[in-house]
Amino acid sequence: MGISLALAGVLVMLLAVYDYGIRLCGVSAGPVESVRLDGDVVLGGLFPVHENGINGCGAFDKGGYQRLEAMVYALDRINNDDNLLPGIQIGAYILDTCSRDTYALEQTMEFVTSTITRIDLNAFTCPNGSVPAYQPPQPTVGVVGAAGSPVSTMVANILRLFKIPQVSYASTSPELSDKSRYDYFLRVVPPDTYQAQAMLDIVTALGWTYVSTVASAGNYGENGISTFRNLSRSTDICLTVMEVIPRDATDGTFDKLVKYLSTIEHARGVVTFASETDIRRLLAAVARANMTGHFIWIGSDDWGTKPNPVEGQEAVAEGSITLLPARIPDKGFDEYFTSLTPTNGSSRVWFQEYWERTFHCTFDVFETEKLDNPKLCTGEETFSDETYEQEGKISFVVDAVYAFAHALNRIQGELCNGSAGLCPEFMNVDGHSLLDILKNISFGGSTGTVRFNRDGDRPGSYQLYQFQKTESDDYRYVPIGTWVDKLSLNWTHVSWGGSDPDRIPESVCSLPCDINKGEKRKKRPGDECCWLCVNCESYQYLVDEWHCRNCTLGYQPRRDRRGCIEIPAEYLTWDSPWAIPPTLLAIIGIACTMFIIVIFVRFNNTPIIRASGRELCYVLLFGILATYMAVFTLIARPSTLTCCLRRMMLGLSVVISFSALYTKTNRVYRIFNSGKRSVRRPKYTSPRSQMVICFGLVSVQLVGATLWLAIDPPQAIKTFPSWHQAILECAVTDLSLVLSLSYAMVLIVMCTVYAFKTRKMPENFNEAKFIAFAMYTTCVVWVAFIPIYIGTSSTDYKIQQTLLCLCFIVSATVTLGCIFVPKIYIVMFAPQKNKKPSGTMMLNSRMRSTCGSIEGKPNGEMKAQTLSTSAAPVSNTTSSDFESRTPEEEATRF
Ligand code: GLU
Repeated sequence: MGISLALAGVLVMLLAVYDYGIRLCGVSAGPVESVRLDGDVVLGGLFPVHENGINGCGAFDKGGYQRLEAMVYALDRINNDDNLLPGIQIGAYILDTCSRDTYALEQTMEFVTSTITRIDLNAFTCPNGSVPAYQPPQPTVGVVGAAGSPVSTMVANILRLFKIPQVSYASTSPELSDKSRYDYFLRVVPPDTYQAQAMLDIVTALGWTYVSTVASAGNYGENGISTFRNLSRSTDICLTVMEVIPRDATDGTFDKLVKYLSTIEHARGVVTFASETDIRRLLAAVARANMTGHFIWIGSDDWGTKPNPVEGQEAVAEGSITLLPARIPDKGFDEYFTSLTPTNGSSRVWFQEYWERTFHCTFDVFETEKLDNPKLCTGEETFSDETYEQEGKISFVVDAVYAFAHALNRIQGELCNGSAGLCPEFMNVDGHSLLDILKNISFGGSTGTVRFNRDGDRPGSYQLYQFQKTESDDYRYVPIGTWVDKLSLNWTHVSWGGSDPDRIPESVCSLPCDINKGEKRKKRPGDECCWLCVNCESYQYLVDEWHCRNCTLGYQPRRDRRGCIEIPAEYLTWDSPWAIPPTLLAIIGIACTMFIIVIFVRFNNTPIIRASGRELCYVLLFGILATYMAVFTLIARPSTLTCCLRRMMLGLSVVISFSALYTKTNRVYRIFNSGKRSVRRPKYTSPRSQMVICFGLVSVQLVGATLWLAIDPPQAIKTFPSWHQAILECAVTDLSLVLSLSYAMVLIVMCTVYAFKTRKMPENFNEAKFIAFAMYTTCVVWVAFIPIYIGTSSTDYKIQQTLLCLCFIVSATVTLGCIFVPKIYIVMFAPQKNKKPSGTMMLNSRMRSTCGSIEGKPNGEMKAQTLSTSAAPVSNTTSSDFESRTPEEEATRF
């Protein structure tokens, strides 16, 4: 690098000498547009009077021209100040850089040339032998400028070779702080390391987490954005599209850039470190893409408060936040500038151009012929608020000029022994000494105290602006805060336009998940700022936006998903569709049973009832009634009482029924069996014995159930078949329920066995046949019930409960239907059959309670016969003791 710079220096020197030689001999090397102000010492000035064009200088830059005038203004003030450089006038040699580094390099040759004029002129002879007639320019002691960092960098490389100190009023690239390469460069603006930090603080304050960046090619844009990128690494901000606008960018390049920026839908924030020309073209591309209002721009100081970048694209730029190094506008400059007219300011080569651009007119008569709407400038036009606004870096230009003035003043004071005007020592001061003094000056400038740090920079301090639409529908940059080491935003001044001006636009990768729907964020692999929204499980609540946690059992997520609430316990209610049918059936069953009981009581002494074994029949009816009632305990809300009743009644009701039936069938069987061997009546066949046996059988269940209650007291508990369900039920396992019914099942089986054995006995209107039928059906029902009940335990508890109810109802109804309906039918509709049997049809008293005497044939087939009665004749009104009845009373017809 050092060698190439040295080579460049030698080349420039040769060119300068060649150029100088040409001028000495009166041959023009082409007109160089410049502003020259005479003085005892001359300061160079580099200003972007024109923009960077496609092939050279582009459009006129009014802001750049104002800066130029600011230098003239500052020199005026200095030259008229008796305390500053008394007796010395500072002149100026001001050139246009066209914001182009290569063009600026050519212009800088002028300063270098003037330095070479120190070479002895006698050494030159023109080719024609004439005496050199050229009036050489005065040497340039220092240069004010340039504006753009790429220009300053290029120029600084040359100026250092000729030891010409340079003070920039706008170049902010951090690269220029490198004093090993830019040792003659100083600036009155802070470097972009501060600006990048300020931009990052703005992004953070807006709550943006995903932003794009756009930079102009060159050390201003690229270094600025890379500083921003480096700083953002220690924050939660992610950068998405990071684009550099090439120097030769076309409109197509900008269109593609906008398309690319818009691919990240929610990343609306775009941080720009770009030249004002690039900003203008970028905004135009956004307008072409119909994306006005989509992006919110954060603009660096090259955008600042300039009207140029937003001209014609105000709507696209609305809401943009821009930065500008902090300064106080110079009121004196306003006065000075607005008093200029084409007449008094015409000494400046570009002033007419400025006038034409400001007042939209032309001084060129020929030009008016070409225009559709010609307007000739009169020169009488006046500046107003619409046509004049002080450019943002005017104060810095003034300070840069003053920096030189103060340094020269100190030199004059030190070397000229306090005398006014020039002294030889002053004239012999070289650039290196001037630089040393410049580095150490300190004075109160219009941007605060001007003092350079070790790197020749100023400390970071910025003003923030937002480009807003005013009530009168025009646009302006509104001050919204400052940044001095930290951000201070005046939110009341911030407005985002549209219907909700207070709502900060978002710039994120992913939108927040819907917490109310229970969505949590799931990081997208490799992308810290992006996430997917995934649902928490239905039994989970959101601990925070990233995590779900299970509710404890019996609890479910609240509606807002921020916690859990207890699940209300479910139980079968009376109005449930699962409860209504069994309840109705049980009520009908109870009604029928009651009806039968009434009929039995009413016709208690009729032959058919008497022959039925009334006591056991009443027990049986009671059992059936209890079975129907047990259904209610199954449907009632589980509580300690209902659970207790349920446990007692379920088994007991069935056991009562089948104990009675078993006692009955067993007796018949025993009598039938013993009748085959002897005429002696078997033991324990009397009604009393029957009742004792029956109650004995019942008491087994009673004792078992009571023990069960004592060992495992009943209680209603909540169970949780799933995360969302809490069921209130009695603390009874399926197994213990089946066990509690197992005794009843044994009775059913035994009853069925005896019913089967006695099935063909025709006594008492084929009662045995009906009993057998009832028992088969009961068996089928219960056999089918157990697997179904256990099988449905994993499904809805209501189904299981209803099944159990139906099983009891069917079981009771079958018994009721088969055993009692035929009798009721005879009692009510066939009273002719309900008569005392004829003598030949009398039943053996041993068979009374089984409704008739039966004799089995040897082959096992039973046949009805007329048996002689041996029972003692007793009054026919005794109800409980069959032994006391007359044979006739106990007879039944076949
Ligand atoms: N700060 C910019 C740069 O360093 C120049 C800004 C301006 O000219 O307003 O390139």
